[in-house]
Amino acid sequence: MLPFSRVAIIGLGLIGSSVARAVRAAMPTVRLSGSDADPAVRERVRDLDLVDDVADGAGAAVVDADLVILCVPVGAMAAVAAEIAPELSPGTIISDVGSVKAQVLTDLTAALPGIAIVPAHPVAGTENSGPDAGFASLFRNRWCILTPPEDVDPVAVERVRAFWTALGSNVEVMEAKHHDIVLAVTSHLPHLIAYTIVATASDLEDVTSSEVIKYSAGGFRDFTRIAASDPTMWRDVFLTNKDAVLETLQRFSEDLSALQRAIRWNDGDTLHALFTRSRSVRRAIIDAGQDTATPDFGREHE
Ligand code: NAP
Repeated sequence: MLPFSRVAIIGLGLIGSSVARAVRAAMPTVRLSGSDADPAVRERVRDLDLVDDVADGAGAAVVDADLVILCVPVGAMAAVAAEIAPELSPGTIISDVGSVKAQVLTDLTAALPGIAIVPAHPVAGTENSGPDAGFASLFRNRWCILTPPEDVDPVAVERVRAFWTALGSNVEVMEAKHHDIVLAVTSHLPHLIAYTIVATASDLEDVTSSEVIKYSAGGFRDFTRIAASDPTMWRDVFLTNKDAVLETLQRFSEDLSALQRAIRWNDGDTLHALFTRSRSVRRAIIDAGQDTATPDFGREHE
């Protein structure tokens, strides 16, 4: 039996449109409705026929839905929750896909008293945005972390778990604050570093920008992929996961200073030991099936 029969998706960009495509593929009888603040996105979603009903406003999209998934930037969650609150049917479950969980839980709980809220974070994505960037297999074999509040009905949690399992994800349940610390290390800090490296490289006066692009294969290119990620989404991530990111950044700065010292004092042993440890982390990620073992991420070489 399907966990939900009428699903509403608010925000039809990369993640929202991927959820729509994945639902169509895995649960074709589910009635899908959706909305997006951007009229051009709504038009594109109609052209691509990604959902059954595209509404002009979020409120109209959620009427009669038994699951509503908010797929908007984290900073927009509170406003969308307030907009849909008067239109929700009794028994509707609210979820989201935001990359930060504690703040979203606070915002949704404040705007939607008495509604079952089961926040979720599919740990899957790309550097692209918008409805054309989505694809049905995005969540397959990826983790989806649920961060339900303690007092939510466990049946609601199980239904959201069944939903993400049907889309091909491996589901884990975690406390929202813990999620934010884990993701600060594995996702938020790496993005901040990538943004910084790309900015530093483009500001260097002794190296021309054409040289930066020409010789980018030396590691820089992989940072530019991460640093091409959506500016609105990432601004909101850093502003809403401030404490965990600042704590992680402090640790990172200390480790960077230690490396700086090792280079200055020709301490090759320290450098070699650290690089060896990093290599084993890469091997563990490949062994866990979270990336390809093909050299250079599977890029083709002549
Ligand atoms: P996206 O492609 O930019 O799509 C977001 C869509 O939401 C945009 O079309 C945006 O319209 C719309 N929107 C913004 N405010 C809205 C509002 N108040 N009401 C209705 N629609 C609104 O972004 P995305 O990558 O799908 O990210 C969506 C969510 O997924 C974020 O919370 C993000 O943290 C989370 N997430 C992203 C990734 C990833 O890799 N990208 C992975 C996991 C989770 P406008 O362009 O007009 O603002």
